[in-house]
Amino acid sequence: MGPEIYQIDPNRCTECVGHFDEPQCVQVCPVSCIPVDPAHAESKETLWEKYRRLQAAAATPATR
Ligand code: SF4
Repeated sequence: MGPEIYQIDPNRCTECVGHFDEPQCVQVCPVSCIPVDPAHAESKETLWEKYRRLQAAAATPATR
């Protein structure tokens, strides 16, 4: 509660696929204010692909 509003980046959210069985932010939110965005509905397969892509990017040193 307060003036700050947080947004989930759909390019970085895997719905916790690869880490947990359930979306952890949804599990811990006390007021159920994290809805599924119908504009970004993804299959488990797509979420796994995103997870692998993010893991590969994290393992690759950044270039300047
Ligand atoms: S906790 Fe999981 S479901 Fe929530 S924003 Fe992060 S990756 Fe997505």
